[in-house]
Amino acid sequence: MLSELRDSHGRVMRDLRVSVTDRCNFRCLYCLPETEEAANFYRTRWEGLGKLPGPAGPIAYEWKPKVELLTYEEIVRVSRIAVELGVTKLRVTGGEPLLRQGVEKLVGSLAGLAGVEDLAMTTNGFLFARKAEALRAAGLRRVSFSMDSLDRENFRRMTGRDGLAEVLEGIRIAQEMGFSPVKVNAVVIRGMNDHELETLAEFAMERGLSLRFIEFMPLDSSRAWQRDLVVPGREILERLKARFGLEAVDQSGQPSETARRWRFAGGRGEIGVIAPVSEPFCGHCNRLRLTADGKIRTCLFSIGEHDLRPLLRGGATDDELAWRLVEIVRGKEAGHRIGKPDFVQPARTMSCIGG
Ligand code: SAM
Ligand code: SF4
Repeated sequence: MLSELRDSHGRVMRDLRVSVTDRCNFRCLYCLPETEEAANFYRTRWEGLGKLPGPAGPIAYEWKPKVELLTYEEIVRVSRIAVELGVTKLRVTGGEPLLRQGVEKLVGSLAGLAGVEDLAMTTNGFLFARKAEALRAAGLRRVSFSMDSLDRENFRRMTGRDGLAEVLEGIRIAQEMGFSPVKVNAVVIRGMNDHELETLAEFAMERGLSLRFIEFMPLDSSRAWQRDLVVPGREILERLKARFGLEAVDQSGQPSETARRWRFAGGRGEIGVIAPVSEPFCGHCNRLRLTADGKIRTCLFSIGEHDLRPLLRGGATDDELAWRLVEIVRGKEAGHRIGKPDFVQPARTMSCIGG
């Protein structure tokens, strides 16, 4: 009898992020920039920063052929086994998860797994309004949108698409339909959208949303990431504290939560700061990732991956898959190495890994 997914550092895995596609209809410049101009976005602002591409060059990406993607049956099987081994939280992500046909069927199957306490989806929101009813009916209750700017032109610059109106509509509909909480993620990049921190926070307060400010991480296909482009979480918080009355949310019972959270005093909504670069939280990490092509990643910044597809398609039993998961988790790295001399950016971008 297998027990749980415990790594060699004593951490127990409770959270599985499932990427259902590597494709995306957006081209966020911190993830999958489309044009050279977008990939070089900082040059005009930051004289003297290294030239692109860096020594390693940009990460070439090609969409995976469909046959290499796990089927919904395969995804559900891996998720069920992970849940039997103690995972309680599942998040459907991508790429853009709403691009995968019939994703609501997958959501329905995952929602029906005994032992799943929390099922959520992360989406850029562009297609959410069209899919909301089907997702709700399938059992989705929590959704996180990505929205880095409230300024139409800046939104277009950051995502490569003129889609702010659609995303705002998606957020409105999610709230109207009772999804709860509705979270909004904003990646903060110095010189790009850091002037919008207060506007975004105000939007969260007015709408009663949970807004998460995320530090820019070195996971972009252009390898444009530079530390100077990261606005440290501490700085974000100081700025917001200067403007809003904020009360710390008691998180003592949730050590593995990535966001440090504050609610607006006397108001609705809250903000959170996710600071993996300046204040790593690896010591409490309980997350695993399953990529769309069937690889398990034990860290966003893992250099190696563990391919489950040959087992899934080669007749492995549930027990064999479970043992493989246990073995993989045992080798989970202690933490990421951003900022260390030996740091190497992973060969796949956030869109492939599943954020
Ligand atoms: N396409 C969906 C979306 O954008 O919400 C889901 C996948 S996306 C990879 C998941 C999350 O990763 C998004 O909130 C996005 O902002 C975040 N992300 C992508 N690249 C990032 C980076 N280089 N640094 C920090 N966050 C990043
Ligand atoms: Fe697409 Fe999400 Fe990456 Fe933006 S962050 S390019 S929406 S996968």
